[in-house]
Amino acid sequence: MTAASAARRADPDALIGAARDGDARALARLVSLVENSAPQLRPIMQAIAPATGHAHVVGLTGSPGVGKSTLAGALVRHYRDQGHRVGVLAVDPSSPFTGGALLGDRVRMQQHATDDRVFIRSMATRGHLGGLAQATPQALRILDAIGFDEVLVETVGVGQAEVEIASLADTVLVAVAPGLGDSIQAAKAGILEIADVFAVNKSDRPGSQELIRDLRTMLAMARYGPGDWKPPLVPTTAATGAGIDELAAAIDSHRDWLAASGQLLDRRQARARGEISAIALGELRQRAGQLPGASRLDELAERVCAGKLDPYAAADELLARS
Ligand code: GDP
Repeated sequence: MTAASAARRADPDALIGAARDGDARALARLVSLVENSAPQLRPIMQAIAPATGHAHVVGLTGSPGVGKSTLAGALVRHYRDQGHRVGVLAVDPSSPFTGGALLGDRVRMQQHATDDRVFIRSMATRGHLGGLAQATPQALRILDAIGFDEVLVETVGVGQAEVEIASLADTVLVAVAPGLGDSIQAAKAGILEIADVFAVNKSDRPGSQELIRDLRTMLAMARYGPGDWKPPLVPTTAATGAGIDELAAAIDSHRDWLAASGQLLDRRQARARGEISAIALGELRQRAGQLPGASRLDELAERVCAGKLDPYAAADELLARS
């Protein structure tokens, strides 16, 4: 690396400018800075703040095997055909090396490898506690400010992941498919509450009509007030692209409804609250854990164990001294 290019790589403005101009490596580096909680992140986030708020963030979740990565690929193709710039962040909290990585690599390999208007990335946070909650929204902000119109955040629908995705996305797209017990799972996992749009994928397979009927029945039991958004059920065959235009239209309608109803601002403010808390808690954890052996946390823990201090008072002291 020459001295000039080294300087360029270290300069936040130059990195942002290069990424805006379509330099995929500059963008990848910006996202890596987020993943690593690098110190350069602060000036970068400060510089991009005024340019954020334009991208439509679509969370995509569902059980393993329903066709999320195939759907993501089909949606990327659709948005590209519309002339949009589209990003995909694959997030797999349970395993940063499997599901997420597969999506990124598969879609990238297929057809978008040389397309600078498509950015696909598996998020990895090197096992930081709460790292994903902290990093993903910041990576979203970067893509937003760089000029991506649509950003898909894909996560496997297990455990807390779908609840988290609901707090990240403007529009939550839940993928279901026949033969996976998805209508039962949907009811159990609280997916009905978070879904803004359902993609009933693998509609070429038997059982698709029954799944739609079950979901309709469950949705009919939910109470919607006048003016509430009722999640549409869109049959898709991601493998062939059938239904993808209709799915994208449903996602667009939801975005229009969000904007018209004032919910967009509510959701984004809720997201910002979560971001601030995650960053503040991450910072606190880091400060508390500094200087192993002689840290404030260790010292307070000793006093709590010895019965000299209760954990609430210890937490107060930690906060006061951080
Ligand atoms: P993910 O685990 O949810 O990301 O699911 P994948 O996208 O990896 O898809 C799982 C399997 O289902 C793959 O073998 C896909 O080729 C297949 N698949 C995806 N969409 C469809 C579809 O619409 N119809 C059929 N028959 N198979 C599909």
